[in-house]
Amino acid sequence: MNVLITGGAGFIGSHLTKLHLKKGDYVIVIDNLSTGSKNNINELLNNKNFKFIHNDVLTFDFKLLNFNLNLIYHLASPASPNHHSLISYHHLAKETMLVNTLGTLKLLELTKKHQAKFLFASTSEIYGNPLIHPQKEPYFGNVNPIGPRAVYDEAKRFGETLTSYFWNKEKVDARIARIFNTYGPNMRIDDKRMIVNFICQALKDEPITIYGNGKQTRSLCFVDDLIDGLFKLMINKNTKSEVVNLGNPEEHTILEYAQIIKKLTNSKSEIIFKEPLPADDPEKRCPDISKAKKLLSWQPKVSLIEGLKKTINYFKNIL
Ligand code: UDP
Repeated sequence: MNVLITGGAGFIGSHLTKLHLKKGDYVIVIDNLSTGSKNNINELLNNKNFKFIHNDVLTFDFKLLNFNLNLIYHLASPASPNHHSLISYHHLAKETMLVNTLGTLKLLELTKKHQAKFLFASTSEIYGNPLIHPQKEPYFGNVNPIGPRAVYDEAKRFGETLTSYFWNKEKVDARIARIFNTYGPNMRIDDKRMIVNFICQALKDEPITIYGNGKQTRSLCFVDDLIDGLFKLMINKNTKSEVVNLGNPEEHTILEYAQIIKKLTNSKSEIIFKEPLPADDPEKRCPDISKAKKLLSWQPKVSLIEGLKKTINYFKNIL
């Protein structure tokens, strides 16, 4: 099969690319490297089943691809919410809004033309600061449309609307993955998400910085599990027009993550609190994955400790 992965040089995209190559597919990655990194795909550049297009989804002329596409994953988007990061969606606000809206529209039209299958990488952020817990797919969310996270959250929400329009009215074979917090090798140090910051701070014996009081929760999925879920959601027969949460339902407070990482790295770091919690930072987040279990026979397999050890090793090697 011919597979197009937008954002295929990014954290999640690079793992998905390798999975499809392993399955024997031909994979085309388009990535403008605004948040992705060539390091993630360097080892693939000589693979005859791999093609890298260093370009932007919004400006690239897809007519230049002179073969038929079977699967299209739209993963390209900044995703870090950290204001201190130059690759966060705050610093790349217009790019984030456009790639998830106009970019999604362009790719859905491409999917229709090629009679391919489409997967939109949405996010748990569409639930905002959730008023129900854990979050199930029918929940509409609690998002501030003009708040600091809106450039990402609302663009992803509109990306979902476009995708559902195309499956309803244009009969396109599409589906939506709502991806919850994911971690693992190939995350960028400068993206400054919680896991990256805590591991790097712990490895350097620097203070581990908790924003707010650390009682907010997240549920972390190791990237290999997530990729397995994305693949099944794309490939399985009964997934057309479905929206599915993908994540690990094991929930911990941010303080607990800091303590676990400190222990696993044998770090001398002290844990410090930087009040207040950033505006609109969700107080809790945990996926209800009963739909994914039923529809895809999927659930995460990698334990938190196992996943963290692999991620710590990755950062040890690149620090
Ligand atoms: N966080 C933190 N210290 C950091 C980075 C993040 O306490 O150095 C907190 C952040 O405020 C949030 C949680 O950890 O409550 C998860 O943040 P992350 O950036 O990973 O992404 P989010 O889940 O908020 O999209």
